[in-house]
Amino acid sequence: MADTVENNNQSDLFGHPRGLFYLFFAELWERFSFYGMRALLTLYMIQEIFKALVERDTATAVVYASYGSLVYASAVIGGQISDKILGMRSSIFLGGILMSLGHFVLAIENNVAFFLALSFIIVGNGFFKPNISTFVGALYPDGDTRKDSGFTIFYMGINIGGWVAPLLCGWLAYTYGWHYGFGLAGIGMLTGLIFFWSGIKKNVFGDKGLPPNIEVYEKKVIGIPQKTLIPILAVLSAPLIAFILSSWQDNYVSLIFKFVGFGVLAYIIYIMSKVSLAQRKKLFMALLITFFMTLFWGFHELSGSVITLFASRNVDLVFFNASQTNSFNSMFIVILAIPISLLWGYLSKKGLNPRTPYKFGLGLVLAGVSFYILGMSGGSADENGMVPMAYLFVMYFIISIGELFMSPVGLSKITDLSPKNIVAFMMGVWFLSSAYAFQIVGFIGEKLAIESTDANVGGLDTLQVYTDGFSLIAQYSLGAGLVVLLFGPLMKKLLGNVH
Ligand code: GLN
Repeated sequence: MADTVENNNQSDLFGHPRGLFYLFFAELWERFSFYGMRALLTLYMIQEIFKALVERDTATAVVYASYGSLVYASAVIGGQISDKILGMRSSIFLGGILMSLGHFVLAIENNVAFFLALSFIIVGNGFFKPNISTFVGALYPDGDTRKDSGFTIFYMGINIGGWVAPLLCGWLAYTYGWHYGFGLAGIGMLTGLIFFWSGIKKNVFGDKGLPPNIEVYEKKVIGIPQKTLIPILAVLSAPLIAFILSSWQDNYVSLIFKFVGFGVLAYIIYIMSKVSLAQRKKLFMALLITFFMTLFWGFHELSGSVITLFASRNVDLVFFNASQTNSFNSMFIVILAIPISLLWGYLSKKGLNPRTPYKFGLGLVLAGVSFYILGMSGGSADENGMVPMAYLFVMYFIISIGELFMSPVGLSKITDLSPKNIVAFMMGVWFLSSAYAFQIVGFIGEKLAIESTDANVGGLDTLQVYTDGFSLIAQYSLGAGLVVLLFGPLMKKLLGNVH
């Protein structure tokens, strides 16, 4: 009887493993908290934390970039610890608790609390994000053709969170105060954890996500079992990270990243030297798509920084406030995710589904086109340097199509292309692409910084800075996309059926 119940709980729902829907809602709420907070972050720094500084745009750009880089880089460590010690379930719990702690600390009005809060979110995300994504992959047996669409569904969960959160948190922040917005983000994260927990209670995950080796899990180091020691160390690392973030003039993160990149690359090359040729080709492809993804996110992730500032200073906003414009991207993803995934299915049947590198090349081209549109917006500005909101809307529409050509495809590919014992680590490397992307975001943010303490900064000069910047980004992105497309045939030759 018990057996039947267990089997029932692991049976399919809408043609997918039941566990997917619990992960879907857990991630939906986690991303709700993440993007709700992100929509407020840049404006909060400009208007509160750094408001007295003339170089407040620069400070904000550096902290935003450092936060973004660390929030995704921590995924490498979280992925490793999960693979070796904690397993996905404990990692997801630990991450979720730390993230909600971070969001609630953010609701305290104080600069020290601000940096500490960001640090908790950074460490928490490291445990949560790579592991919940790997968990999705683990629900499907090897070679299961439903995996891609499983990731598409999961990606919709991410973006339902990313769509609704800026609208609600942005509204709360503008109407009642920043801290209400941040507080709501924290509640979102707790809700995510409750979903995950209920999935475990209902036994929808079977034996997936348990610690890889229970002896290692329980093993004592300095008298404390590892399963307890890791959460303690995670909490203790927060003040150190807070210090790094608050020393924005030194930009330590940028320095650290220069070294980390080489380290990770060296490690992957080492792994590549140990595996079979077939496996090596796969890892090479995984590296390649991670690299292209970095460029794409480097432009795309400007949405929470420079584009939010542009929206607040130079866009004639109707109905939405500047924070809320952060919801556009996710809204388009939710609308387009299923049609585009159906398109891949349809093309597959006809034998015409483009190889991954072509999808990635096209994604970069689309990002270029989207920035080209923002760059053009200057031509329609009024005498106060305000441009119609339609430009922003169309820009997000186009870049979202590009995102769907790359991100969910890549997520699914990474779990396919990596050897089983390092799949969470590779997922971490995948997220490292977002981490490096934030260094690009920081670089651009500093270049497009406006030096002023005027709360109403804007006008034609400011517009010129932004539109020139966007046009330049458009050229880089288009150029990179075209190079990828041109090298497609060569990759096919080198890598054969690996794509
Ligand atoms: N929007 C996606 C998410 O939140 C991807 C973000 C990223 O990796 N930069 O998962």
